[in-house]
Amino acid sequence: MATTGKIGVTTENIFPVIKKFLYSDHEIFLRELVANAVDATQKMKALAASGDYKGELGDLAVRIELDESAKTLKIVDNGIGMTAEEVDRYINQIAFSSAGEFLEKYKDQLGSIIGHFGLGFYSAFMVAEKVTIETLSWKDGAKAVKWSCDGSPEYDMEECDKADRGTVITLYIAEDEKEFAEKGRISGLLSKYCKFMPVPVIFGKEQEWKDGKYVDTDKDNVINKVEPLWTRKPADLKDEDYNEFYRALYPMAEEPLFHIHLNVDYPFNLTGILYFPKIKNNVEIQRNKIQLYCNQMFVTDSVENIVPEFLTLLHGVIDSPDIPLNVSRSYLQSDANVKKISTYITKKVADRLDEIFRNERQQLEEKWDNLKLFIEFGMLSDEKFCERAMKFALLKTTEGKYFSIDDYKKAIEGEQTDKDKKTVFLYATDVDSQYAFIEAAKNKGYDVLLMDCQLDSHYVQLLESKIENSRFARVDSDTVDNLIPKDDKSKPELSEAEQEELSVMFKAVLPKENEYHVQAENLGAEAAPILITQSEFMRRYREMSAMGGGMNFYGEMPMMYNIVVNMENPLVTKIIAAAAEHKDALEAFALDNEILKQITDLALLANGMLKGKDLSDFIARSAKVVEDAYL
Ligand code: ADP
Repeated sequence: MATTGKIGVTTENIFPVIKKFLYSDHEIFLRELVANAVDATQKMKALAASGDYKGELGDLAVRIELDESAKTLKIVDNGIGMTAEEVDRYINQIAFSSAGEFLEKYKDQLGSIIGHFGLGFYSAFMVAEKVTIETLSWKDGAKAVKWSCDGSPEYDMEECDKADRGTVITLYIAEDEKEFAEKGRISGLLSKYCKFMPVPVIFGKEQEWKDGKYVDTDKDNVINKVEPLWTRKPADLKDEDYNEFYRALYPMAEEPLFHIHLNVDYPFNLTGILYFPKIKNNVEIQRNKIQLYCNQMFVTDSVENIVPEFLTLLHGVIDSPDIPLNVSRSYLQSDANVKKISTYITKKVADRLDEIFRNERQQLEEKWDNLKLFIEFGMLSDEKFCERAMKFALLKTTEGKYFSIDDYKKAIEGEQTDKDKKTVFLYATDVDSQYAFIEAAKNKGYDVLLMDCQLDSHYVQLLESKIENSRFARVDSDTVDNLIPKDDKSKPELSEAEQEELSVMFKAVLPKENEYHVQAENLGAEAAPILITQSEFMRRYREMSAMGGGMNFYGEMPMMYNIVVNMENPLVTKIIAAAAEHKDALEAFALDNEILKQITDLALLANGMLKGKDLSDFIARSAKVVEDAYL
């Protein structure tokens, strides 16, 4: 008996909404329809397994059939099918009333709901002007039904003569969506969304090269792997299997460093494999590589809000039916399940790194340079991860040795504890330009760390707050004696006026663009007359604010340097003696004094700060000094 009816209650609004709000994501219709076909097939298998169905299962593949000239696309399955009553319930009533509820609930934020809307079957109307369902239920005595609808709220339902169990969905592709009637487009979508679905999905025939062109063979073209690696038992898999899977996912990427196989079924369901990629020095370009699946159906490769930000640097797949996909992204963050999942993944990543630290220490050291940015990022952004990572994070010295944070502290404590009982971690950010300072520190029996990564100024700040009684100082932030002051040294005694005079003289000959703090020290007659250092505090804050982090105040300040004048150096003594005669015109005296200019320029040169005219003046002056000395 044929019936005609009007679908649901809120249908008047449904189709425009489907078209409008899913606009950016029309292509997902295919994923939804194939997923329904796969579901129906899985249910059939379950019925057979439980003994409720005793007949032949037959070929259970899902077939996609495209007729490019007629512009029809069929999704054919041999699943459980539907009776007329089920079509009425699932297609005519349920889908629409739940869509109605959905619209009611989120009507204020419809604009922000993008993609992953989950309207299932009705997403077909995003691309089709007419859709038919022909279906025969597995149930004894069921009659085949044909449902059709042209996108208006009216549908037709009648008996039909479909003889075999299962469902055929036919889409009559709309004129303005005709890209979806092209073989290349469909093939691309299938491999994007259906590559790992759990039932074979067949699209046409495999092809071979024959007589100068590709021709169909008689072999079905199966586009998916029904048992992808993450669904298998870790015990059955070798490293090579994981690497091969990685290459299949990311053909262009370098070999990963390590992998983690995730598998949990309580309190939520989640499987997956995560890979640590080699991360050199750029956090931004590595994003968006984790693919999110739901029961082996690809959902998205943008997983922000589902995993903590630092984990988006990882690669791999996560498969979970428990991540709600039909809500807006901003809502995801507050979802309790998503929070649990995110905490679980963070914990697993920390567990794995801890295990590598304990059992594969050598490997960890070898791979550390490529892993470090990821771990530092995690420690800076996730408190829990940081707590764990304090145990397995490594520190690298300028000599290329690696230590755990605890071990390193123990190793340097003896030599590098200052008078306030703080252990001073010395570090360099560039071995070449800070060479002289590193050498000076080593000669004094100190060790120097290498901190040359993008996040290190923030990281140093973090470590300082986490390691009890510690202080970090860059090797060039002070004279070697002052880096780790052991006792209160005697300072040269200068009156306020003398201090001011010293300041006036040096500022007269230093480049004008920076600010200086001139300070007198007794460094011994043999030591250099002048040393230029940069306060650890000021430099670090300037770097941190340059990277962002709400400290822009420091970023705008001029560069500030300390000019350390060694009052015991004979050249300095000589200049000061000469200056005594010119107290009323010190600036002019300074500009005229060749020794002062020369020693200042030498100090600037040592720090790479002598430039332009000052540099060429210095060269000319030095050439003259050499001539005077040798000719
Ligand atoms: P969802 O899949 O989210 O439940 P859909 O609108 O995609 O929503 O489908 C509604 C219902 O219609 C399904 O739950 C299922 O019972 C039925 N259905 C859809 N497609 C098929 C199919 N190919 N075979 C059997 N039943 C189907």
